Amino acid sequence: MSMALSIRGLSARYRRTPILHDISLPDMLPGQLVALVGPNGAGKSTLLRSLAGLTEASGSIHLGAQDLLSSSRRERASYLGFMPQTLPDGIALTVLETLLGALHAGRGGNGRDGVEKAHAVLVRLGIAHLAMRPLEQLSGGQRQMVSLAQAVIRDPALLLLDEPTSALDLRYQNDVMSLVRQLADDGRIVVVVLHDLGLAARWADQLVVLNAGRVHAEGTPIATLTPALLAEVYRIVARVERCSRGRVQVIVDGPSR
Ligand code: ADP
Ligand code: MG
Repeated sequence: MSMALSIRGLSARYRRTPILHDISLPDMLPGQLVALVGPNGAGKSTLLRSLAGLTEASGSIHLGAQDLLSSSRRERASYLGFMPQTLPDGIALTVLETLLGALHAGRGGNGRDGVEKAHAVLVRLGIAHLAMRPLEQLSGGQRQMVSLAQAVIRDPALLLLDEPTSALDLRYQNDVMSLVRQLADDGRIVVVVLHDLGLAARWADQLVVLNAGRVHAEGTPIATLTPALLAEVYRIVARVERCSRGRVQVIVDGPSR
């Protein structure tokens, strides 16, 4: 597979403090949706930011033949879409203007072409009615949808989403995950940080479980999510059961000792 995402021996630190320790993962392939899970502070955002070239990292990250660690910003913008966990505040620009900005960060279209692209993305996300609203006047969930639109507008081969559903109501959570699934099915590689293990199990092909900056486990959701893992990584007593439709559910009974 020419466009596989390959991560080998990846380490990252903030100043002197090591955060990620020698992360290696099986190659991720176009069409795959990979959920990155793990407790608070495990290093999920740091891993995503390393892939996006926003945090100093060592080791090797390749997308096909492209070396992500030595790519320029401009190169990155042509193949990578990143949605950060925290969204910038106090932006007076309208939704449409921020989308045009995101589009022109890569090659993108200009003028009318750009506006049409932006409109198409907003329609696909079900937020076309927000186009002319200033970003700073939107709710957290609405801004999260706009941030997702910014990440996908350039049609990136690699899409990195940091907790894209954390501020969304149940309907938008489902809509977003279904869209993210489609974006993967169209032939992209999608890595998404999720706290909700039920959502991760339902939508992702593979889970990567990070704990204290290391890969604790990876594999299919059903193989990975076990009571033993939940006890070790999250320090909870939990059951993993199938619902009446066969979907994996995680039921938390309490803290483990
Ligand atoms: P997660 O996304 O899994 O909750 P993060 O990747 O945000 O975890 O953080 C991993 C660790 O790195 C945490 O211990 C956190 O305190 C630390 N960290 C995150 N960002 C910074 C930063 N800018 N400077 C110093 N330490 C940071
Ligand atoms: Mg995070």
